[in-house]
Amino acid sequence: MTTKFSSLPLSKEMLCNLNEIGYKEMTPIQAETLPFILDGKDVIAQAKTGSGKTAAFGIGLLTKLQVKKFRVQTLILCPTRELADQVAKEIRMLARATHNIKILTLCGGTAFGPQLGSLRHGAHIIVGTPGRILKHLKKETLSLQDMDTLVLDEADRMLDMGFSEEINEVLAFAPKERQTLLFSATYTKEILGISSSIQNDAISVKTISTETTNKIVERFYEVGQGQKINTLINIFSNFKPQNVIVFCNTKIQADEIANKLQNKKIDALAIHGDLEQYERNDVLVQFANKSATVLVATDVAARGLDIKELSMVVNFDIPHSEETYTHRIGRTGRAGAEGLAFTLYESFEIQNADEYKNEIRLFEDIDSLKVINGFEMRSENITLVIEGGKKNKVRAGDILGALTGEAGLKSNSIGKIDIYERQSYVAIENSKIDEAYEKLKDGKIKGKKFSVWIL
Ligand code: ADP
Ligand code: MG
Repeated sequence: MTTKFSSLPLSKEMLCNLNEIGYKEMTPIQAETLPFILDGKDVIAQAKTGSGKTAAFGIGLLTKLQVKKFRVQTLILCPTRELADQVAKEIRMLARATHNIKILTLCGGTAFGPQLGSLRHGAHIIVGTPGRILKHLKKETLSLQDMDTLVLDEADRMLDMGFSEEINEVLAFAPKERQTLLFSATYTKEILGISSSIQNDAISVKTISTETTNKIVERFYEVGQGQKINTLINIFSNFKPQNVIVFCNTKIQADEIANKLQNKKIDALAIHGDLEQYERNDVLVQFANKSATVLVATDVAARGLDIKELSMVVNFDIPHSEETYTHRIGRTGRAGAEGLAFTLYESFEIQNADEYKNEIRLFEDIDSLKVINGFEMRSENITLVIEGGKKNKVRAGDILGALTGEAGLKSNSIGKIDIYERQSYVAIENSKIDEAYEKLKDGKIKGKKFSVWIL
């Protein structure tokens, strides 16, 4: 099968843009679904995290979109706000070549009022979580009358999170005549059930790419009672990962592990469902821009995050199911790089651990880990927050200019810049943080003064 995007009936602009954003070839899931998606067929597809599902449906729906018709033509349902934001971001990037495509995210956990304002301005594509979308439909602040493409992204997770009722209710507002695309990391009875009730003659695509699976080195360690933290640190000091997600099963545990790591000079942050949305955002931004080296997370909080080049995943306990395990470790070893997936368990978890035994997983003794003293795992950067964002027309270039202008910082001391509606985040090299802070605190961005603080 050819993997060139140019083998597909795509516009010149789209092909050119794909080339510009560095998508040289289709990923397997894209190669297998896009011909059908572009042909208007319903598709149910299984592929692991990081396989490029977003572009698979994104390229499809953008190709079909009638830009001149300013109506909601596509609805994309996602399990969490983080995922919805990521999907919107990727689709915006794919849509760069076409002017005036309006994409709106509608998620719970954010104020309802501003969404009404945005909806009044109209949109072509809506990305959101089922609960909030339903609320808008019931209040008639959103109409799906002209919708002809429906996407369920990470459908298995939406079911796990108890959204099946909401999804059904949302569908009652949707036209029967439509294309429905369903993506899921796992194929369960429930998923197949949903597919048969909301799709028509769906084409089923599964990609189990052994190639990527093999690039993850899986190791299991049995540890004595109360030794997990120390073993975790030994793993870090022996394998020296750039960045790590440590998964645990409870919120309390997440905070505890992060605290203990911080006390050992490891820049760790916790993320879980008890955090406010803005706190979660702060954490995710810091991890992605290298202001933290370790993210300690519960499953729901970290699901579907696309952090590129994640070098290690650690399961602090044996996951509840093999599915969860697959999801978690799927985050490392992306884009061809080798990933490390480590799992810790205590003797009482042995039975569960035994179920994980197979020929590719290594069950190692903790004595194989060297004890390295004085180990630290500091982040490269520290994050500055500026209280100004898209609403204030602040752009990355403006911030960069304010920091580097007039004998300011060198641009290589400045990392990722993330601009949100009302806030912007800038990653600054550790040793330059005071200088950067002073410069922004006293200076102006676009001729205006903004509050600035260090996260
Ligand atoms: P999934 O939804 O399957 O977990 P994503 O859609 O988030 O995966 O894609 C994972 C990463 O791969 C993203 O950073 C995306 O930009 C990148 N990507 C997608 N398609 C391609 C491609 N054809 N070539 C290179 N990178 C790609
Ligand atoms: Mg995805």
